Amino acid sequence: MTSSVEVDRPVVELRIGAERLTVASGGVHQHIDPATGRHDVDVPLAGVAEVERAVQVAHQAYLTWRCTKPTERRRMLTRLGDLIEEHAADFARLAALDNGAPVAAAAAMIPVAVDWTRYYAGWADKITSDVIGSHRANGEFSYTLAQPWGVIGAIITWNGPLVSLAMKVPAALAAGNTVVVKPSELTPFTAGLFTDLAAEAGIPDGVINVVTGGPEAGAALVEHPLVKKVSFTGGPATARKILRSCADLIKPAVLELGGKSGNIVFADGDLDAACGMGTMMSVGILSGQGCAFPTRMIVERSVYDEVIERVRTYAGFMKVGNPFAEGTIAGPIVSEQSLNRIMGLIDRARADGARLITGGGRVGGDLADGFYLEPTVFADVDPASELAQTEVFGPVLSIIPFDGDDQAIEIANSTPYGLSGYIFTTNLRRAHRVAEELETGEVLINGAANLLANRPFGGIGISGMGKEGGRQGLDEFLRVKSVSMA
Ligand code: NAD
Repeated sequence: MTSSVEVDRPVVELRIGAERLTVASGGVHQHIDPATGRHDVDVPLAGVAEVERAVQVAHQAYLTWRCTKPTERRRMLTRLGDLIEEHAADFARLAALDNGAPVAAAAAMIPVAVDWTRYYAGWADKITSDVIGSHRANGEFSYTLAQPWGVIGAIITWNGPLVSLAMKVPAALAAGNTVVVKPSELTPFTAGLFTDLAAEAGIPDGVINVVTGGPEAGAALVEHPLVKKVSFTGGPATARKILRSCADLIKPAVLELGGKSGNIVFADGDLDAACGMGTMMSVGILSGQGCAFPTRMIVERSVYDEVIERVRTYAGFMKVGNPFAEGTIAGPIVSEQSLNRIMGLIDRARADGARLITGGGRVGGDLADGFYLEPTVFADVDPASELAQTEVFGPVLSIIPFDGDDQAIEIANSTPYGLSGYIFTTNLRRAHRVAEELETGEVLINGAANLLANRPFGGIGISGMGKEGGRQGLDEFLRVKSVSMA
């Protein structure tokens, strides 16, 4: 199999309790296969009516789910993790159809989703509260209750639909909430299989509902009074709109937004690892369409030229191709609109005086109809320029020189984002000092892995607020009540 044209697509349905809808009041989105540029399926879009029904169903399900024995919730979520693992090949295929992620890259992300699901399954029967004081000591006996919020509105983006689901849904359910998920209309396929497997794992109808839709459905979900908390993954512009709606209702929201993460490469660092990882994770895997990717390589001047040459070589290994073709590392950009936006940024970076090292154009030949971009690397990028300050969400790496640790930190911290920070150095004192100074939600040193389930993830600044992962990710789905008896 070398092309997505021959692969069958599942029917896209909204899932509201036990109901399956192929027609909805929000109209239809014509899904375009980014690998070929061809229309493949019509996606039914939820309107206000379907969101209303889904939230009501989720609320009814919540009244039972919150009372389900924690050990039962653990058993079902553990089973869901097992089923995701068993269906790894199906999920990888759906990801390729959804957004053009190469099958191999998508397959590598399935264990991440399995880990997150199992990790939060394990929390389901370990949620405890505190005893604050005894009657004898205070004259009052006080304790807390960690309780679910109710219905969670989960709005996700298109770049990793399964991982996004796994980062939100198991934690919400483990804590006793139910969810209405709004996937992106650009990636309609994955959530259906996820919901089917949840049902097979024994999770009752109505606990997970899926309203495929666009901005209208997202806004209706945020505004619904029975949605007690919003968990959003997407861009800062949408997050601002969500926050405005939340402000009216005084509703809390977790916001996992974009990034422009710096990768500081010191001369004493492992340059092979720094350049290999830095190139793969900016212009290779997912074609740069990842929020936490190290898209600014900030390089100590004494090794600057050497690093540029290494990155040029690595970029040449990033084979661009159809997601189903063997050996493809970088698939297409998700949509023609995104591709044109990225091309605009590339053109303006050239005009701004950044030095193009490789790439810079749309891929032609057999791939001309799909939305493919060459892995693109710029050097001598001005840290204040549009390219250095804007999240590209495409295969474009900026290389920037620095002199001295303080300047490296200053450049790394010079964008309004604050999602991830990367450091390559063999000097431990420097590694810990710089890690402390970076204004980011996480710091990964010498190639440490992204997205571990047991570690909190989430940015600061316009990268968002709140956490997914670890105990903190669970706490986002619990509200604490204090109880006192005189
Ligand atoms: P987006 O903000 O345009 O859309 C995200 C989701 O919000 C979609 O489901 C969309 O339909 C919905 N939406 C749009 N308007 C809405 C509204 N008014 N109210 C409610 N929902 C609405 O983002 P995108 O372009 O799909 O995704 C790219 C962005 O997501 C990038 O900035 C990327 O960095 C970020 N992202 C962040 C993470 C993370 O965990 N931090 C992970 C992946 C992607």
